Amino acid sequence: LERTFSIIKPDATRRNLTGKINAKFEEAGLRIIAQKRIHLTKAQAGEFYKVHASRPFYDELCEFMASAPIVAQVLEGEGAILKNREVMGATNPADAAPGTIRAEFAESVGENSVHGSDAPDTAKEEIAYFFSGLELV
Ligand code: ATP
Ligand code: MG
Repeated sequence: LERTFSIIKPDATRRNLTGKINAKFEEAGLRIIAQKRIHLTKAQAGEFYKVHASRPFYDELCEFMASAPIVAQVLEGEGAILKNREVMGATNPADAAPGTIRAEFAESVGENSVHGSDAPDTAKEEIAYFFSGLELV
């Protein structure tokens, strides 16, 4: 079974959407095998999103990710990386397919409720940044 890394972002934790978002994952056959609520510093958010360091929205993105607690998660299932991206929907909620998390809950292209790893190597790296092997059950 494949594993992917997921974040329920500050806009969603602020609006008490953790349960509704987790229901979408579970309905899609993704098992939540690790989960913790943490409040990132701006520096930690910057490290996590460092691939976007040269993008114009980087500073705003880091401020946002540090603006309230997040829920960091590991999801497991068949084809978990792609399946999770499907359940999340397009980055911009205006383009997200009906029924996806971003279509239903995201507020804007920046405050878009969830993050999901985009490939096996980033999934592995992101899981290891947030969780130790002992926490994956
Ligand atoms: P994520 O990596 O969070 O799962 P993604 O892979 O769909 O999202 P990326 O292109 O990797 O999208 O962008 C990372 C994050 O940066 C987006 O989820 C969003 O929060 C923010 N972002 C992307 N594009 C913009 C933009 N044009 N304006 C503001 N924020 C943006
Ligand atoms: Mg991405």
